[in-house]
Amino acid sequence: MIIIGGGASGLIAAVAAGNAAGGDNVKIIEKNERIGRKLLATGNGRCNLTNINAASDSYRGEQPGFCASALRMFSAEHTIEFFNRLGLVVRTETDGRVYPKCDSAGAVLDVLRNEIARLNIEIIHADVSRLSFNRDAFLIHCTDNRNITGLSVIVSTGGRAAPVFGSNGSGYNLLTQMGHELNKVYPALVQLRTSFADIKSLNGVRVNAGIGLRKNGRVIGYQEGGLQFTNYGVSGIPALNISGAAEQGSDIVIDFSPDTDSDALLRLLVKRAANLSALSAEEFLTGFFHKAVGRLLLKYAGIPPKPPVSAMTWHLNKLAGVIKSFCMPFSGVLGFEEAQVTGGGIRTSEFNPYTMESVIRKGLFAAGEVLDIYGPCGGYNLQWAWASGYLAGISAARYRNAL
Ligand SMILES: Cc1cc2nc3c(=O)[nH]c(=O)nc-3n(C[C@H](O)[C@H](O)[C@H](O)COP(=O)(O)OP(=O)(O)OC[C@H]3O[C@@H](n4cnc5c(N)ncnc54)[C@H](O)[C@@H]3O)c2cc1C
Repeated sequence: MIIIGGGASGLIAAVAAGNAAGGDNVKIIEKNERIGRKLLATGNGRCNLTNINAASDSYRGEQPGFCASALRMFSAEHTIEFFNRLGLVVRTETDGRVYPKCDSAGAVLDVLRNEIARLNIEIIHADVSRLSFNRDAFLIHCTDNRNITGLSVIVSTGGRAAPVFGSNGSGYNLLTQMGHELNKVYPALVQLRTSFADIKSLNGVRVNAGIGLRKNGRVIGYQEGGLQFTNYGVSGIPALNISGAAEQGSDIVIDFSPDTDSDALLRLLVKRAANLSALSAEEFLTGFFHKAVGRLLLKYAGIPPKPPVSAMTWHLNKLAGVIKSFCMPFSGVLGFEEAQVTGGGIRTSEFNPYTMESVIRKGLFAAGEVLDIYGPCGGYNLQWAWASGYLAGISAARYRNAL
């Protein structure tokens, strides 16, 4: 059995298959000099390895329900148990995010590597460029002209996001060579760009805010949390999470006071104006918002900086509106280099959701990000990689044992 791609989904597939069919029957082909390079970069080096709330309704894709059976058969609890068995101690943090207790992504990779070594699974370092089927075996052609054969194959090459770690979309070619179809791919969980003229004045500012996208008067995808402004747009988990729904022609809408409703905010501003009446208008928001944010809010509420606060009472309604709903034109997202995951991918309707086996070619399996499924930030994407990889590994072992 050949596993093409030694990332999260390929490594767990190898362990599952090795335990079920014997490690000597499993080989991983990985183009990098080391397996699991992307894993080391996950969760800012801490690896947010799963989320206890992971369920199919959190995921996006052509058929988000495709992941439901895998997430049931190998849930976040199974992931935790699986890694505990390999020696990894984990801790659950806010919003159900699970991390290694030692806060090191290296520990996740190390326990997988130890298990792969214990099972005697061979790792071949090669870049696979072609996949074909000849009579009763798959032929795997590598760029160094090596040819490898296998009775079954798992394609776990990832998508196109973060190609610096090896995932450059080559897996799409391998699966389309076997007759599969590719849905349009796009960078997802990625920073938003804006053509807003004053964005540079916010560069480097971090706020706790709400963010959504407004199109045709409707706000979609609203989320709250830590946002970071850059000189081109907005970053931070809520911004990344809505990036997949962002379309040209929409506005990025920011609520700079998400914990106060509009009426309460207006009352607060009125009271503040009475207390701070002797200050100049430009100082009115000092101590309430980051200085750069305050300056921008006053500017877009049409409040001149010099007159005293006592002269600006009639502007407070407008100011409350600008604080609750600050609009910046959306002008695109950054590219695959910056994206955490790939949206789109190989059509899931061509795979069996209970086994991850192709319905086009028996003995061919796929797992992880190469398929048209992704989830939000917070451990959801690794959970998909573990669940689909585990299922593909077990199913490929059963397929082999039945031959
Ligand atoms: C910076 C960053 C941080 C992230 N943090 C998190 C997080 O904390 N939690 C979370 O849930 N998700 C996170 N993700 C997303 C998560 O890492 C991915 O969704 C997950 O790694 C996908 O696993 P995969 O096995 O499908 O693909 P990958 O992990 O991309 O692995 C694919 C492997 O296949 C190899 N390969 C590709 N093509 C070939 C070929 N032709 N021949 C041989 N080998 C090949 C690649 O070199 C690579 O090693 C993060 C992503 C990034 C970029």
